[in-house]
This record gives sequence, structure tokens and C-alpha cells, in this order.
Amino acid sequence: MLLEQQAGLYVHVPFCHRKCGYCSFFSTVPRAGDRDRFCSALLTQMQYLAAQPEVQCLGFATIFFGGGTPSVLPASVLSDLLHRLRHLFSCSTPDPEITVEVNPGTIDGTALSALRRAGFNRLSIGVQSLVDRELAALGRMHSSREALAAILAARRAGFDNLSFDLMYGLPQQTVSSWQATLDRALDLQPQHLSMYELTVEEGTPLAAQAQADPRLLPPEEEVLAMMAATATAVAGSSLQRYEISNYAEPGSLCRHNVNYWNNGCYVGLGPAAVSAFGGVRRTAVADLDEFFRRVLSGLPVWEDVESLDREAAFRETVVIGLRLLAGVSVTALQDRFGLDLPTYYGSHLDQLIGQGLLTLHQDRLCLTLKGLPVANQVLSALV
Ligand code: SF4
Repeated sequence: MLLEQQAGLYVHVPFCHRKCGYCSFFSTVPRAGDRDRFCSALLTQMQYLAAQPEVQCLGFATIFFGGGTPSVLPASVLSDLLHRLRHLFSCSTPDPEITVEVNPGTIDGTALSALRRAGFNRLSIGVQSLVDRELAALGRMHSSREALAAILAARRAGFDNLSFDLMYGLPQQTVSSWQATLDRALDLQPQHLSMYELTVEEGTPLAAQAQADPRLLPPEEEVLAMMAATATAVAGSSLQRYEISNYAEPGSLCRHNVNYWNNGCYVGLGPAAVSAFGGVRRTAVADLDEFFRRVLSGLPVWEDVESLDREAAFRETVVIGLRLLAGVSVTALQDRFGLDLPTYYGSHLDQLIGQGLLTLHQDRLCLTLKGLPVANQVLSALV
């Protein structure tokens, strides 16, 4: 079979040992039997999706186990799931990027070695902060010591492609405590850093706390100072910013996420996972029992199915692609959608360029240094 298009494969493991106070991801504390039911439903869903003609023509360059906390599942189970995925879905490259997210305190050296042997070659560690009072304020289960232990154990297990997730704008955080987390993290020489500002999601315990105490989170000027401190700290390291919130050594960009930002094809497995292939985006039901019921009854798991028309898909590709510092190619967009970007946005685009928020140089439209801190507002103007 001719593989027509490169794609990413995502497995959503919807379990966490405890729910963090700020979390709006679909994850739940597993009940007795949930892990087994999940694995068996996932196998059925894998077999079903792998047999679809629109999936069979995809060649997978990346596999990503995310969550939730995938390391809530034993390493032997994760290894077995990976083995089955590789058997059922065709890879487009002999060296696919295979990532698993782990949280400190949920994994030890033995399990990490088993994952490495099974073929996982990239580890994304949910460090978040290296200051204990900030971790406690977030409701994270682990301490900074456990985070450092997990990083050391990952290196010993042979992972030479490590990414840390860090967050700023946290309760109890100051510019100097953020600087301390950054400096310690950079000293550990990760190949990749994802650094996100904490966002208060409606309906979370954090949202209720923030409403009760308006001074819970650092003020905007302090958050801007944290962003400036990030730029200075990273400038002295081997990492380069390649996306609004992501930094990597040359050659260690997260290929899986770059495919998302290029609005490429992907197949998502598990509850709440999103797939985009054959011109249709499908989102699986975000309810564990309902997911089990539908898979076992042979019913579609999709809760939402959306076909984007050409213009909507074009705009979406522009907006997501501008998250990358390399921006978007006018020629590639013209080839893919038959639309000319400067003509399509007209004076609207001229205005953003005139304000110094975007730059159109030769073939590429990119966010400028002035546009990066206010990227959300700039991008929403192009939706
Ligand atoms: S570990 Fe991650 S997915 Fe799990 S509750 Fe915390 S933030 Fe959410």
C-alpha cells in the first residue's frame, strides 16, 4: 500500500493518581478494573481504526502517549500497547519519534528502563516547578526532589531526548523563584522545554480560589517579567525558541507537535482524543464509561464530527502555524488551499503588520518579538 501522507498517532491515557487543582484535561482517578477495561477498549479501537482505508494510507512518523498520566499504567502495559500499535499502524520512517509523558513520583528507574527497551525514545516529564511551595499550591503530587530523581533516573535508563514541562504565573511564584526553577532546569540540560503560563480554567478548584482571592496569582507585570526572564535564561543555553511556548536544541523539536502546528493529519485513540484525517476532525467522547460502552458495543466513539470548509481550514492552518516562530509559508498555503494569504486577509493583515505584531518577509508570515507576548490577541484577529 502506498503511504500518502505523514501523520501522528496519539494515545490518551485518561488516568491520574490525583486531580490537580488547575487541571481541565480529561483525566480521572482510576477505579478498580478501570485500567484493564481501558486497555481492552483501546485494543479494540486500535484494530477498528487501523482497518479504516483513510487511516491505512497514512504513514506515522510519531507516536505520543499523553494524558492524564500515562505512567499510571505499568511499564509492561505501556510497552505492550506500543508493540501492538507498531504492529497495526504503518510507520513512515525507520526512526519514529515515540514519546511518553510521565509525572515524577509515578515512575522509577526500573520502569523507565523497561520503557526505553520497549522503544520509547523521548520522555516528557511533568516537572512544572522546582519550588515545593509552588508545587503544593498547584496540588501536584510530587516534590522538587522527586522531579530531580525522575530526571536522573531517565538519563540512567538511556533517555537522551528529554523534555520538561514548566509553568509560570503560579500562585506563590515570584520572578526570582521562577528564575530559580528555570536555572535549575537548564542546568539539567533537557533537549526540550515546554513552558506555559498557568491559565485559570472555568470550573476548576483553582478558578474558585482565584475568585475568592483576587491576589492569588501574580499580577500581569510580574508575569511579563517572568517571560522576559525566560528569554534571557534561554538565550544563554543551547535551546532555541521554536514555538510560542516551546524551546529545543537544534534537531530536538517535538516532531509530534510540529505536525499539529502544521495542521497535519493525526489519529487519536482513547476517550476525549481528537483525530484529523480524510478532511474530517473527530473528537472521542470524554466519558470513560461511555467510551467503554461504545467501543464494546461496536458503536462510533465520536462525540463531535466536524468537516471544515476550505476557507475555515485555511484560516485554521494560518492561525495554528503562526504559533511556530518560523511562521507560515504563503506558497505552501497557496498550494494547499488555492488561497493567497495577503489577498485573503487584505487590510486586516496590513494593520497587524503596520502595528509591528506580524512580519511578512519574502514567503513567510511570522509573529514578531513584539507580537509574541500578545500572540493570543494577534491570532484571534486572524481566526
Ligand atoms: S497530572 Fe496533569 S492531567 Fe493529571 S490532574 Fe494533574 S494536570 Fe491534570
